[in-house]
Amino acid sequence: MEFRIGQGYDVHRLEHGLPMVLGGVRVEGDTGFVAHSDGDVAIHALCDALLGALALGDIGHLFPDTSEEFAGIDSRILLSRVMRLVRSQGWELGNADITIALQAPRIAPYVARMRESLASVMGVEPSRVSVKATTTEKLGFVGRKEGCEVWAVVLVRREKSACGEI
Ligand code: MG
Repeated sequence: MEFRIGQGYDVHRLEHGLPMVLGGVRVEGDTGFVAHSDGDVAIHALCDALLGALALGDIGHLFPDTSEEFAGIDSRILLSRVMRLVRSQGWELGNADITIALQAPRIAPYVARMRESLASVMGVEPSRVSVKATTTEKLGFVGRKEGCEVWAVVLVRREKSACGEI
């Protein structure tokens, strides 16, 4: 068995009056993310972690924010395309661990649904997908409710035979 790890990081700015989609789930509140896509910063970090594990570049390279094709796109579609790419090279997700730093609203009540949503898009069991929520104790841009910061780490694995190596 061959293993790779990858990490991804993303930040999106918060603005009043926009819908918030995070971890594939609609989060109720009066702020949402400013972005070219639906702004799902958790999925973007996760995509970058998957791409990073295989040294396939980054999400901005794969899905340019200058392209009309991706304007307002559901980020679950981006994640599903990244997973297709990962599997096309014989890799499978071992696990993903995501940390979301957001001051408000509280996202703890959404974490279980986020895990289910992300796992379902990636075609794996929710037990392979961890989502953790934290605030920054009112410090920095996250603490001032100006944005959301997400870190994702993944492990992917494949049989050595899948890549033609002994
Ligand atoms: Mg992004």
